[in-house]
Amino acid sequence: MKITVLGAGIMGVSTAWHLAERGHEVTVVDRQPDAALETSFANAAQISVSYCEPWANKEAPLKALKWMFSKEAPLLFRPQFPIGKGWHQYRWGLEFLANCNDAAFERNVQQLVALGSYSHTALKDVVNATGIEYNRLEKGIAHFYVDQKSFDSAAGAAALMAKYGVQRRVVSRDELLRIEPAFKLYADHIVGGTYTPSDESGDAREFTQQLAQRCAERGVQFLWEHDVLSLNKQGDSMDSVSVQDRRSGKTSALRSDHFVLSMGSYTAPLLRTVGINLPIYPGKGYSATFKILKPELAPQVSFIDDSVKCAMSRLGDYLRIAGTIEVGGYDTGLDSSLSRARCEMLARRVEAIFPGVCDTRLDTEGGNPQFWTGLRPATPTNIPYIGKSKVQKLWVNAGHGTLGWTHGAGSGKAVAELISGAKPDMNFKFYGY
Ligand SMILES: Cc1cc2nc3c(=O)[nH]c(=O)nc-3n(C[C@H](O)[C@H](O)[C@H](O)COP(=O)(O)OP(=O)(O)OC[C@H]3O[C@@H](n4cnc5c(N)ncnc54)[C@H](O)[C@@H]3O)c2cc1C
Repeated sequence: MKITVLGAGIMGVSTAWHLAERGHEVTVVDRQPDAALETSFANAAQISVSYCEPWANKEAPLKALKWMFSKEAPLLFRPQFPIGKGWHQYRWGLEFLANCNDAAFERNVQQLVALGSYSHTALKDVVNATGIEYNRLEKGIAHFYVDQKSFDSAAGAAALMAKYGVQRRVVSRDELLRIEPAFKLYADHIVGGTYTPSDESGDAREFTQQLAQRCAERGVQFLWEHDVLSLNKQGDSMDSVSVQDRRSGKTSALRSDHFVLSMGSYTAPLLRTVGINLPIYPGKGYSATFKILKPELAPQVSFIDDSVKCAMSRLGDYLRIAGTIEVGGYDTGLDSSLSRARCEMLARRVEAIFPGVCDTRLDTEGGNPQFWTGLRPATPTNIPYIGKSKVQKLWVNAGHGTLGWTHGAGSGKAVAELISGAKPDMNFKFYGY
């Protein structure tokens, strides 16, 4: 069949790869000149199957309220005014609140674990089939705590995850230091941690761009620098997609047997134009990538610093730190005082945990450190929409929030299977099924 995929982030490229594997004729459209130049560009690099708890839990509302006035808050809800203009944000917030209870939390965790484990196998299969190298480190993910109360509650979370088959070990400070000796310079602050040995890390941009190249070698056509302008329906079914070439300004209509929408946070506004309302809203996050000065003292194990909810991963000669979420619209700027405060916090944490190990000077010549922001396509449950919409021939693979890199390979495979008439082998509630 002829299939058009809209968006070339991790979701679109992975979808294209798996469709091409099944013999379909695939075209991918993206407004950028290459793959993974928006949210899949510089994330925290974690393949985090075992740390997949949704943000919505019974403690989240109180914490979010407390954090509303802190520039360094891990989760910042920034209400859009007037309320009419920000309606989609308020609706998202209300659905988020409806998920802040134990029953919803457990239901959502079960879905995320199922998708994570299916996706991990899919990722390994793609890597084995293609030989793509992307600074992959199969050393697990650690989580460390600097206060006893948080460490104590980590044991409860590990027990809950064990119910779903997740192997998350609670570890003492000494054991944590054996797992990652680089923590020794910060050991006095650490009270303990948890560790998931089967998790891993690697560069999502590198992976996605190389996979796009492999797709092209297999005959997938890429229309780079093309804006998707509109979805055109005929009755209840998709007819075509209008696109515009950014270089020539020329517009054209693309026709195919099926269309897959994987445009990250921009999926929701486009779907609304054909009467479909999905609660996918941007969650702005930040990352900073630092040159490592002392490789022997830099960490190999990817980890999460619970005190600021930031993740760090080694990517070859660089250390990436990423985190924080602002629910406040589509702005990706780095210039506001809020953005500057968040970037400075990231640099400060790296220097505090690994003093002198990275070049953490701000504003140096030559592009170090590299600060970046991206819009996580967030849903109130953290569960993405993978499946078919009510408009015939229109499929969706979007809304992966904090875990899009982790779930990328599997989500692409699952939607390709569904379009091909097969049933993905996982216990997951697919959209439209
Ligand atoms: C700070 C941060 C840290 C993160 N850390 C992790 C992590 O450690 N592990 C993890 O699993 N996930 C992580 N994530 C989440 C992950 O990066 C995202 O979920 C994932 O990249 C989303 O991929 P996507 O393909 O859906 O969206 P995108 O990568 O944004 O792709 C969408 C594509 O659609 C294109 N597009 C949009 N609109 C149009 C249009 N009108 N016309 C044409 N093209 C269009 C864009 O150019 C883009 O290429 C993190 C995210 C952030 C922001």
